[in-house]
Formats: sequence, structure tokens, C-alpha cells
Amino acid sequence: MQSIKETLTNNLRRLAENIGFLINPLILKVKGENSQLLIFYFHGLYESAAQKELHHIDPQKNMTVNQFDEFVNYFLSHHYIFLKPEDLLADLKIENKYVMITFDDGYFNNMLALDVLNKYKIPSVFFITANNVITNRSYWWDIIYKYRFKQGVSELKIQNEQELLKQLKYEAIDKYILENFGSDSFKPWSDADRPLTEKEVRLLANSPYAVIGNHTYNHAILPNYNKEEITDEISRSNTFLKNLTGITPTSIAFPNGNFNKICLDVAEEIGFRVAFNAVPKKNNLPVDNHRLIFLNRFMASNNYIKHYGSFYRVGYTPGSIKARLRNH
Ligand SMILES: [Zn+2]
Repeated sequence: MQSIKETLTNNLRRLAENIGFLINPLILKVKGENSQLLIFYFHGLYESAAQKELHHIDPQKNMTVNQFDEFVNYFLSHHYIFLKPEDLLADLKIENKYVMITFDDGYFNNMLALDVLNKYKIPSVFFITANNVITNRSYWWDIIYKYRFKQGVSELKIQNEQELLKQLKYEAIDKYILENFGSDSFKPWSDADRPLTEKEVRLLANSPYAVIGNHTYNHAILPNYNKEEITDEISRSNTFLKNLTGITPTSIAFPNGNFNKICLDVAEEIGFRVAFNAVPKKNNLPVDNHRLIFLNRFMASNNYIKHYGSFYRVGYTPGSIKARLRNH
């Protein structure tokens, strides 16, 4: 049963989304999106709608692979050019419309994206969490989601529990998972929720359309750490990925999109050229590529693509509206 507060929150969110669907296509028609770069971040992909119903993974607005195909097709048919981060280091003809696809965390199910990338010959960045690949342990937010879902806990309560843990360092999160769900809980339940193996990361890296990026060693939410720890989280992950793929990543996505000035300084000191946050805004071109390029990203959504493509462009995502309502 939903609480009154939850029902109200959901209704307000739906209202805001519906207004967005009506207004945004008009704004888009007048303003257009030339000289702008839209970046989307995905987490997992489902191979089918049936796989989604397993509830093995925190849904996070994840798409099926067919929806992902439609998503790419939408932007191509509207004449957007797909970029990879290194394209920003060269001089772009900035009068065009640009889009970039990124995947966070390093789920095995990201391999499903490869067929779509090959089909349309477009690039994508995959930000890998080193330690989950090494240990093949399930991601902690999925552990919470799948166990609590089974217990019948509401979506809002699950999210609140996840939000609390995001304020902790990874050792404390591990301890919490162990105490609440037991050591077996770290074992993935299926291909839906497992991380890539080392071999699969290598396979992915061999694709001409895949770029491998850094997502820290332990999916550390970096503002919870001091400078030395931040440096360790980022550089250890780069060493791991370099040893695995032969390439040192030059792009980083800060876990959960959280960053502060120290994170940016460290990323630049280590030699990254491009860093990604999770602020739902477009990026204006050209970018200053003489220093660390710092880019905003929208969370990808499984809303109907023709609505969704236009809806997102005024800078609101269903997620950000919901978060805002929840904080008040
Ligand atoms: Zn992440």
C-alpha cells in the first residue's frame, strides 16, 4: 500500500512530466539544439521485458535493449551526431547537434548494447567499477533493492535506505550489507545483476565503438573521502583498467554524480581529460579543452522515446523532480 505522501509525490511528478511533454516540443522547435551536447547515462539494460520482471536489479529507469535501439534511432533520425569523449579534444564543427551515451557501473548486461552500437556504428563510454569486476560481487544498491523488494518494502523506503548508505564509505556500506543480508547476498542472482568479468571487460574494450572509463575502484562516493583516499580510489582503478585492456582511461564518471573541488583537482592531476557528473543539463559547445572538460549528464529514462527525447531538454528529469519533492 502506498502512503498518502507517496501517492501525492507520484501525482505531482506525473503532473510535472505531463506539462513537460506538452511544452518541451514547442521550446525545442523555437530554440533548437545546435551547438549543444546532450549526454545520457544508463546503468543496466534488460534483454527483455520479462527479465525486468525478475526484479534482480534496481530498475533506475533502465531500458530494454529494444528501447535502447529506439533511443539511438530517435537521435540519429533527428540528425544528432554521436560523440565519444575524445572528440571534444579535437576541434568540432559546433553548429551541429550532438549526443553522447555513457553507461555507469560495469554491468554484464551492458554487453547487450554492443549489437546496437555495431548496428548504427556509434560510440559509447562504459564506466567500470574495478572491485566489482575483480570480485564479481553484486552492486550494493541492487542487493538492497532485490532483498527489500522481495520483503514487500515500498519503492520510496528502498530509495531512502539507499540514500542513507550513500553517505558512507565503502567499508561501512559492505558492513551494513553483511549485517543485514548476510555474506551470500554479495553473490549475483543472475546475468541481470552481475558485473562484467575481467575477460568481458577486455572483450568490450576491443570493440571499436566502446570506450572504457574510470568509475573509481570501489564505487566510492568521493565527497565522503579525503584527498589521499580520492587519489587512491581513482588511480588504483586506472592501473587495473590499464593492466586489463592496455589503455589508460582518460574519462571518469564520479559515482552517483557526486563531486567537489578536490575530486576535480585530483582528476586533472592524474591526467584525465574529461569528467562526468549527473547534473541534468545540456552542455554548450565549444568546450575549453585546454583543461579538464567537465560535463553534465541526464539520466536515461524508459519513458516513450518521442516524449522523452523532448521532455528532458528543459533540464528536468523525472528523477530530479522526485528528489526535489522528497527533500521538501
Ligand atoms: Zn555508478
